[in-house]
Parts: sequence; structure tokens; C-alpha cells
Amino acid sequence: MWRSNENQTNYNASYNTHRLTENPPMPTTQTIPLPPISYTRSARASRLRITIRPNKTITVTMPKNGNIGEAKKFIQSKQSWIKKHLQKIEQREKLQPTPDLSSEELIKAQENLFSRLDYFSDKYNFPYNRAVFRCQKTKWGSCSDKNNINLNINIAFLPRELQDYILLHELCHIRHKNHSKEFWNELDRYVGGRAKQLSKELRKYRMRMSA
Ligand SMILES: [Zn+2]
Repeated sequence: MWRSNENQTNYNASYNTHRLTENPPMPTTQTIPLPPISYTRSARASRLRITIRPNKTITVTMPKNGNIGEAKKFIQSKQSWIKKHLQKIEQREKLQPTPDLSSEELIKAQENLFSRLDYFSDKYNFPYNRAVFRCQKTKWGSCSDKNNINLNINIAFLPRELQDYILLHELCHIRHKNHSKEFWNELDRYVGGRAKQLSKELRKYRMRMSA
């Protein structure tokens, strides 16, 4: 699933906007119909961004002067990608709930993490391209050259402080594509100088779910 901003309760006061909802076209070859897509504008968005939430809602965020026609074309061009992610969400829904979190709670946890990712992204000016949760065995997160952020679904089971550490760690990779001294220095600024300590703390935790 992916994410982006919006629709969140706490952090999106800065999103001025109008939003409209519409039903997407339904090509005959489509096996999974796309859910309704909402379009929103954000003064902070520098380009079009698609977010797929764990509850399968899809949002396209446009720059302030963005053109709705372009946003629709963008969605069209990303259909197979969107469908792929919707399928993954559905597969994940079939996973057994863990002893600690029901699947519903897990979805809520992911929504909350997305909204904190957006909050930090806006607050510290780390514009990421898109973000998605994955079931991974080894990594807590990653940030690609294109600033696509992958988050491990197991983050949901971590203490809040470590969750935020991971979000900020991946966001810092938007400016630093490595683990240089500059990277750690910058990350330290957002975690009260405890970046290395939190990184060590994180090693104590295991990943529970993988697929
Ligand atoms: Zn890293």
C-alpha cells in the first residue's frame, strides 16, 4: 500500500484544499476495480503524488496550481502499479492477526505511521515521492534514489520512539544517500542527539511478520 498525505486528523492543518471524489473509469481488463479516488491540493506539494492507504483509499495530491486533468492522466498511467498495491493489501488482510494486534489495529497503526511520516516530511522539509508498507524480513525501512520510502509493517509493533526514529532515518536519506557523518549529524538534530543510540536499541527488536 502506499501513502502520502491527507485525510489525517492531526497533521494536515496546512493542507488548504478542495477535494473532490469521483469514480474512476473501469477498463474491461481490470480485475480489481479501483476504489474512489480523491483529489486534493497542497501548497507544499511540488508535484503529483499518489497515496494508497491501508484501507484502500486513494488520494492524488496536486501542487497548488495543479491541473485536475493531469492528475487524472497520472492516475491512468499508474493503474497497474495501483492495482498491484491493492492486491498486496488484500493479501496482507489475509494474514493471521498477531497475538498483540488485530488486523484492524494493524491497519490503524499503519495509518498513524503514514500521518507521522507526512508530519515529519513537512516539518523538516523532506519531500518524499511515495511511501509504502511492506512485509520484509530484514529491513525496517529504506529510501530509494527516487525518494520512495519503504516501511516494514513490523514497525507497528515497536515503541513510538523507535517508530519515529525509523521514519526520520528514512526521511534523512532524502538529503543524504548514505550513512555519512553528515547523515547522522542531521538525524541527530531530530532525535535529540540520540540517533546512534536509537539505532542500537532497534537491533534488540525482531520482526514478527514476514511474507
Ligand atoms: Zn539508512
